[in-house]
Amino acid sequence: MSSRIKVSSAFDGGNISLIEANEPDNIRVNIPKDTNSNFLQWFYFRLQGVMDENCTIRFENAHEAAYADGWYDYQAVASYDREYWFRVPTEYKDGKLTIQHTPEKDSVYYAYFAPYSYERHLDMLAWSSSNDDCINHDLGTTAEGRDISLLEIGRNQASAKNIWIIGRQHPGETMAQWFIEGLLERLFDESHPISRALLNQCRFYIVPNMNPDGGVHGNLRVNSKGVNLNREWMQPSEELSPEVLAVQTKMAEVGVDLFLDIHGDEELPVNFIDGCSQISSFDQRMANMESLFNGTLLAVSPDFQTKQGYENNHFGEDTLKVAAKWVGETYKCLSLTLEMPFKDNELLPDPEVGWSPERSKILGADVLYPIYQVVNSPEMK
Ligand code: ZN
Repeated sequence: MSSRIKVSSAFDGGNISLIEANEPDNIRVNIPKDTNSNFLQWFYFRLQGVMDENCTIRFENAHEAAYADGWYDYQAVASYDREYWFRVPTEYKDGKLTIQHTPEKDSVYYAYFAPYSYERHLDMLAWSSSNDDCINHDLGTTAEGRDISLLEIGRNQASAKNIWIIGRQHPGETMAQWFIEGLLERLFDESHPISRALLNQCRFYIVPNMNPDGGVHGNLRVNSKGVNLNREWMQPSEELSPEVLAVQTKMAEVGVDLFLDIHGDEELPVNFIDGCSQISSFDQRMANMESLFNGTLLAVSPDFQTKQGYENNHFGEDTLKVAAKWVGETYKCLSLTLEMPFKDNELLPDPEVGWSPERSKILGADVLYPIYQVVNSPEMK
């Protein structure tokens, strides 16, 4: 009876360690640490053999997670077809995270957030670069031999503004790549006036996946060397952080007029932007661009807000090691970190799916409005 229950994770992005699964109501697991690191939080696994059974899945080491407080009010996602991900009842209590779910199929997947596979990433590069306005550049190679890929998009070389957008420095923050997927689809929409205007005014430099090794390993925060790329921007190295070094080298070659670094936040149940007000070169011009960007996104998306976010000293002495701060300081441009929730946007909740791939894609498309506003502001002339 009991041997029919199976837990597995030997696939792209998979991450779980089985303790025991003797009965459906006693499935006990641990979340393995990220590669060469003490961070843990991302999980993604398949459960088989429990159709119509009331399952209790207990994450015994949830209290050791990088953001244990992020488990409060968090609901895990599940999927039968690996396309539609819905929320399942989840509770964090006494240091353990527990999912209660009765699968309707013989095979069900559970994850921290809807995964974005390496294959889907390669598909994104392929369909993007089939567009006449897009060039796929190879910037270098990760420690494990995966390509560090950049999409350059635009119609105009001379006097174009250079818009940089990167995602998934933290590979478990998959909403970042869903966001970029939505942004790219909008940018390639030949009927959309904002996209048409931006393609004439700008060159986009988009790195949809900064950390493909970490993503394949099922890491939350680091690459295969155990390095958090978003603390490497002061001193990236070929050995530990070739991903950051490659992007900085290309930035130095073409310049940066606007930078967005896309992330997910484990704790806050809202979308928010973290700006550059704490860096020494922050001036009135940068402040004006930040408030124009925030105000425009606020106007076009009820999924965005500006009341909740990081404290001004959130990164402490690490501030300039963080991508958006380093770029702001180096290029004196509008440079922002955009964070989406793992949970839901509590201001416009959807209990069925929570914050989701679809909602991330729409926010990604909508972000072209504030980019358009800033590019056409007096500060950018
Ligand atoms: Zn992040």
